[in-house]
Amino acid sequence: MSFESFNLHPALLDGVKSAGYTAPTPIQAQAIPPALEGRDLIGLAQTGTGKTAAFVLPMLQKLLRGQRGKLRGLIISPTRELAEQIYDTVKTLSRHTGLRSMAIYGGVGMEAQKSKLRAGMDIVIACPGRLLDHVWQGTIDFNNVEMLVIDEADRMFDMGFLPDIHKILKCLVRERQTLLFSATMPGDVKKLVTQILTDPVTVQI
Ligand code: AMP
Repeated sequence: MSFESFNLHPALLDGVKSAGYTAPTPIQAQAIPPALEGRDLIGLAQTGTGKTAAFVLPMLQKLLRGQRGKLRGLIISPTRELAEQIYDTVKTLSRHTGLRSMAIYGGVGMEAQKSKLRAGMDIVIACPGRLLDHVWQGTIDFNNVEMLVIDEADRMFDMGFLPDIHKILKCLVRERQTLLFSATMPGDVKKLVTQILTDPVTVQI
């Protein structure tokens, strides 16, 4: 299995090279093809497996087609540290695409985030609380979101973010692709899966 075999856009293969990846990890080999087909997906994988690129590459491939400068890819993370890590991966893999991305989390000023959002972002990686602050203030537009990723869903539950996740989901359009990654699949996560994913493929490593 090689990254070339996924039929990724050449700009993404350049990104993969920039990241220094030579061959897909098992979770990437399993998750990338169905995600590229547009399927909803449940990825059961721990940190360290390469799960981030498993959802970032299909998102970038999808966003390379279509209008730029509108928020079309949304990734939700339970913690700032994870949001920053995901943002780093997005930046590296999208380096040759011209797609624009940013991370949004609390504990830092709103204004810089607002002005970046106004400039037009294709991808936002966000923690739930601060993302909702932007929703309530009308500084983020969800109308064009066509792909949603919920990362580390089990941690999201442990940290009490479920109500926030539901509030965010209510603001998103229904016609979208949704990927959910989790290390474990407790009952709460299973319930969310049945509520928000359509005919999902499950991949597990
Ligand atoms: P993650 O599980 O997404 O946090 O990734 C764990 C680490 O694996 C990160 O440092 C990635 O840069 C690295 N990584 C991801 N995919 C690959 C790959 N295909 N080949 C080599 N390293 C990778």
